[in-house]
Order: sequence, then structure tokens, then C-alpha cells
Amino acid sequence: MSHLNAAEIARNLDQVRAGIAAAAINAKRAPGEVTLIAVSKTHGPEMIEAALAAGQRHFGENRVQEAAAKFPVLKAANPDLVLHLIGPLQTNKVRDAVKIFDVIHALDRAKLAVKLAEEMKVQNRRLPCFVQVNTGREPQKAGVDPAEVANFISQCRDELHLDIVGLMCIPPVDEEPALHFALLRELARDNGLTGLSMGMSADAEVAVTFGATHVRVGTAIFGVRETPIDSGGQDSSGD
Ligand SMILES: *Cc1c(COP(=O)(O)O)cnc(C)c1O
Repeated sequence: MSHLNAAEIARNLDQVRAGIAAAAINAKRAPGEVTLIAVSKTHGPEMIEAALAAGQRHFGENRVQEAAAKFPVLKAANPDLVLHLIGPLQTNKVRDAVKIFDVIHALDRAKLAVKLAEEMKVQNRRLPCFVQVNTGREPQKAGVDPAEVANFISQCRDELHLDIVGLMCIPPVDEEPALHFALLRELARDNGLTGLSMGMSADAEVAVTFGATHVRVGTAIFGVRETPIDSGGQDSSGD
């Protein structure tokens, strides 16, 4: 698979945006309620530049080090670029993550919440955070158990004063994503949260039907990734 050129990326972006807009309208939602996050992991700066030239402003990366290597320059040149951390975060990378990213999507455990709260205070950067929920209760996958979500959110909000804006999930690969999107929506509602980070290339439109406010789309915009990178669901430990 060769790299897509700028015209191909622009065309893909148009298609993804049109699909999201149509799904939103079908669900009687305003297309503007949905933020498209272009997931640029493994792709070089020239491909991100192509997306920027096509008007894309929200980008997602799942590794702190990779983002640190690519994005400071792009952000300096594009002050309105918004960078989302969508993958697991180890506590020893929290300082760099708070420096580089604007939104955190995979807040999944108390130890990380404590560390994020500390570091945001030090850097005086209060980043919006999504709590990742393990909707499929998969043992190998990151995320708070659905039964623990309410407790975890109140701990993050009331004790740590984190800016919790919504919930995030990665459905099990072999299950109907709609069931997981519906569960995530219900959990968000129960906890008074409006943000829903769900839906990837294969199921972004389904996610929008179920109320997604943030969809994370990589392959459908930038093409197939050459370096296999875990989906962000595994191995959040390491600390
Ligand atoms: C890689 C990744 C995506 C994008 O996946 P595609 O199938 O390429 O759209 C979305 N969310 C997370 C957490 C990811 O790690």
C-alpha cells in the first residue's frame, strides 16, 4: 500500500464528512454536533499537512512519543489545530501528554487520573477528558468496567477536579458495535455527560446514529497503515 497523495486524502475527507453529515441528519441531529478526529498515527507530517490543507483541524494520535515527534511543528504553524490522545497513557508519559495534547480520550484508571490532575495543575492546562469504558468487559482491554463508571467519574470530578466531558469506547471486534454505542450513550446520560467518543472507520456512521459527538477515523481518511499498531485497547499498564 503506497502513501495516499494530498488529493486522495482531500477526497477521502470529503467522503467521510458527507457520510457523517448524512448519518446525523438521518438521526435528526445537526452535522455540526459531530467532531471528526482524523487519526494520523503511523502517518508522516506530509499526510497531516494534506488534511490540514483540506480544512481538517482535529487530529488523533495514540502514542505520546510519536505525537511529540510530529505535532509541535504542525501546531506552531496551525494554532487552531486540536490534538486528541486516543490511546492508552502510561503514567510516566503524563507530563509530555499534558504538554502536547489538547484532549484526553482514554482516562481509564484512578492512578492515571491522580497523575493527570497533578500534572495539569503544574502546567496550568486543564484538558477535557473522556473516560474510557470497557463496554465489552474484555479482560485484555483498557477501560473502566460499566458498573464502576459512576464511582470513577465522581472521583475524577469531585476529588480531582478533572474536566470530564464524556465517555469513550472501543467495541469488541467481533460484536455488533451498535450495542456498545447504545450502552455508552446510556452510561453518559446516567452520569450527566454529553460527550461520546465512539466510532472508527468501519462504524463511524453507526456511532453517529447512536449519538457520537467525536468519531475517530484513520484508515478511511489516510489509507491502510503500514506499521501495525495496536488498536489502543491493549496494554494500558506498564506503570
Ligand atoms: C487507530 C484508532 C482509531 C482509528 O481506527 P481506523 O479503523 O483506522 O479508523 C480509532 N480509535 C482508536 C482508539 C485507535 O487506536
